[in-house]
Amino acid sequence: PTQKQCAMVCVADLRWRVVEEPKGKLMQRLREAISDGRVIDAMERVPREAFVPLEYRDAAYEDTALPTTEGQTISQPFMVATMVEALEPRRSDRLLEVGTGSGYQAAVLAELVREVVTVERIESLAKSALNRLTSLGYMNVIVKVADDHIGWGKGAPYDGIVVAAAAPKLIRGLVDQLAVGGRLVIPVGGRKEQNLIKVTRSDTTYSVKTLVPCRFVPLIGQDAWPGDQS
Ligand code: SAH
Repeated sequence: PTQKQCAMVCVADLRWRVVEEPKGKLMQRLREAISDGRVIDAMERVPREAFVPLEYRDAAYEDTALPTTEGQTISQPFMVATMVEALEPRRSDRLLEVGTGSGYQAAVLAELVREVVTVERIESLAKSALNRLTSLGYMNVIVKVADDHIGWGKGAPYDGIVVAAAAPKLIRGLVDQLAVGGRLVIPVGGRKEQNLIKVTRSDTTYSVKTLVPCRFVPLIGQDAWPGDQS
């Protein structure tokens, strides 16, 4: 074989070992743990390696959270699958994500629903997430830089809201951004450990269900944690 052919084989082999094989294994494990197969189909279509910093690329398909810039994280794949399944996404839905981070979870949601609005507090993260999502061809994601109010009231009501950062309590202002029948999935608890909570809004009231224990970076804001201690 020529040197060029050899180089091509090596790159293909490297891609197999670093991306395809670990991705296949992770997706298989997620399929065993998550009952809604559509969620895992969507995760299979999103290249997580494109959302993690270069130095962590070989860990892109380990089932762990990974650092992004600004001391933030890209959530653990199992947690993404759990949250997205709990949202009960339907094709026609408009969803809100609070905490864009790398944009990975927004991409997974964009595979499943009509439109995703995602809001991020750190402007540089919002910008790089938008670039990434655009270059991957996601046209149905709107990225916003957060203001003082948690969520994005201007776009309300949403069929579902997912919060990718931990709140000290259930945030009434977010429940108010839900449509009737809408679902809110949010980690609630202490700074270090929380439980994933699902809220379903009905006509006059809402129901609350506790799903699984989890660990998220703090949600920063007036109704959440102060920003200067993180
Ligand atoms: N969904 C992301 C992971 C997000 S980590 C992914 O798939 O990569 C949580 C993010 O929430 C961080 O980027 C943090 O800056 C952001 N955040 C914290 N408080 C926020 C707030 N009040 N509004 C919007 N984003 C917030």
